[in-house]
Amino acid sequence: MVFVLKQGAPEDKIAAFVKKIEAAGCSTFLSTGTEHTVVCLIGHTAKIDVDFFVQTNDIVEYGRRITEPYKAVNRMVHPDDTHVRAGDVIVGEGYFQVIAGPCAVESEEQIIGVAQSIKESGVSMLRGGAFKPRTSPYAFQGLQEEGLGFLLAAGRAAGLPVVTEVMNQTQLPLFEDVDVIQIGARNMQNFDLLREVGRCRKPVVLKRGFSSTIEEFLMSAEYIVSEGNPNVILCERGIRTFETMTRNTLDLSAVPLLKQKSHLPVIVDPSHAAGLRSLVPALSKAAVAVGADGLMIETHNDPQSALSDGAQALDLDQLRSLCADLLRRAVFEGKKCNFRS
Ligand code: PEP
Ligand code: MN
Repeated sequence: MVFVLKQGAPEDKIAAFVKKIEAAGCSTFLSTGTEHTVVCLIGHTAKIDVDFFVQTNDIVEYGRRITEPYKAVNRMVHPDDTHVRAGDVIVGEGYFQVIAGPCAVESEEQIIGVAQSIKESGVSMLRGGAFKPRTSPYAFQGLQEEGLGFLLAAGRAAGLPVVTEVMNQTQLPLFEDVDVIQIGARNMQNFDLLREVGRCRKPVVLKRGFSSTIEEFLMSAEYIVSEGNPNVILCERGIRTFETMTRNTLDLSAVPLLKQKSHLPVIVDPSHAAGLRSLVPALSKAAVAVGADGLMIETHNDPQSALSDGAQALDLDQLRSLCADLLRRAVFEGKKCNFRS
């Protein structure tokens, strides 16, 4: 349940109102927006009479029960858009950021070269997997801790924050210097991992599970935010459907829907959605058109010889021309691109 207070409600009246609610047996937290303060109730709200509290407290504009199971990530609780800061890069409404890099870090020279090139193309963050969740135990599993070191060095050399996937909570101590932790599609409902990541304040890219509904996706984000970490970026990366010509089906309707239901930033990964590099430019442009706050695009220096996901990777020249196009479109949509604070 939330009570939205009138603009300019005085502090002492807010405190008195909160006291009354708590006396009725609920705990509260305040969400202070640019226009309104929202009092959010947690606990046994069933016995709270919304109309009574609205009528008897002149600072209250309206009260509403939140019927959705997600609360902390719900836009009703937090009407303003959340902006997530990764290094000096801001992700959220009004901005447009491109994250690019290979599926997996393969060598130090590779990732340093990719980082330098994509930086020149206007990319604002470097991605690269060190720990790779592969379907086959015989496939390349990533360079692990060594790969993480190469990625961090490449990000530092190019001046780009880095995004990389954590596969389980025992790896988290290794991620101390990582700017953004990625939770992959296969781990979207690894609840212990979500809770643990929620206990740190590091930005998180949470990818949608390929068989997960939008509500389940938001509930996973709720695990992180309710533990105290508000820095979550949602990433739509395609879901499994009956279609076999693409690796997944990009659910573009999820983008505006997530932005309606939640205050969290939403980005799109067209690479894992399509599985085919030839579709990546069109899907990327579509993502800009539906209001995504950014893109994550797999990019490799030599896609033909990539150790994972080569078929969907753009090469560095393809990324350069796509980026120029995307950034132009995003500016046209009124977004600030590659903005650094
Ligand atoms: C990745 O980003 O390389 C990856 C494994 O993505 P997903 O979890 O979306 O499959
Ligand atoms: Mn990949």
